[in-house]
Amino acid sequence: MAPILEYRDLSKIFFKGNQQVHALDHVTAEVQEGELLAIVGPSGCGKSTLLNLSAGLMEPGTGDVLYRGRPLTGVNTQVSYVTQKDNLLPWRTVEDNVALPLQLGDRVRLSKDERRERVTRHIELVGLGGFEKHYPSELSGGMRKRAQLARSLVYEPEVLLMDEPFGALDAQLKLVLQAELLRTWEGTGRTLVFVTHDLTEAISIADRVIVMSSRPGRIQAIEHIDLPRPRDVFGIRFAPGFGDYFERLWSALREDIRHGQEV
Ligand code: ADP
Ligand code: MG
Repeated sequence: MAPILEYRDLSKIFFKGNQQVHALDHVTAEVQEGELLAIVGPSGCGKSTLLNLSAGLMEPGTGDVLYRGRPLTGVNTQVSYVTQKDNLLPWRTVEDNVALPLQLGDRVRLSKDERRERVTRHIELVGLGGFEKHYPSELSGGMRKRAQLARSLVYEPEVLLMDEPFGALDAQLKLVLQAELLRTWEGTGRTLVFVTHDLTEAISIADRVIVMSSRPGRIQAIEHIDLPRPRDVFGIRFAPGFGDYFERLWSALREDIRHGQEV
């Protein structure tokens, strides 16, 4: 496997008035093509910043983001991004929201019929069949997440970036959506970068987990998760090996928290 995204010695400092926020500190890592990479870390450690950089929405202070070996110089049109904030357009129905990426720019040239077919297929894929004509305000939180997911998948991007997509949902719904995400992703060969602050979620779904330290965000640990696929997110936490992964990664997170308290 070749890296599709590479972070080379990335640092990022934000300036707010005369205050500085050191968000990322010498981050070097790779995202392999086709893998599901989870990035875990405490709030404020730069996870969203890393995704913004991957999408080419901002520039690093120092260091490079490479996409297929080339430094990113503008918006990365090969990735799609489910942002932390719900950004469905309230005045558009589910199907019109999902169709949006196909109507913007010329990333995908499709006939009207093909476009309709793709929209319908992706709405079905995320389990929203029957809700095509509903507006976001008529949907539950979980359904809005599904609509966002359908909208990100509709132009079949090479890489999907997801920023704490299930963070605000209750525990049961979260499991259901994790299972659906895996069902949607497994076998596609597409790359998925999934940011979360939930270690169990990360181990359950990922091929690799990166643990970041608290701010300024550094890479604290990287672990391959060799649990079999397809995975049953309901049962996997009781599978042999899960506890060992949890313990190792948790100790990396905890060590950092302890260190943070001392200084
Ligand atoms: P996370 O997603 O891990 O919670 P973020 O990447 O959102 O962390 O933010 C890392 C740090 O950088 C935070 O302290 C945040 O307040 C700060 N930050 C993020 N974006 C900006 C910005 N555009 N301007 C100023 N500070 C920012
Ligand atoms: Mg964030």
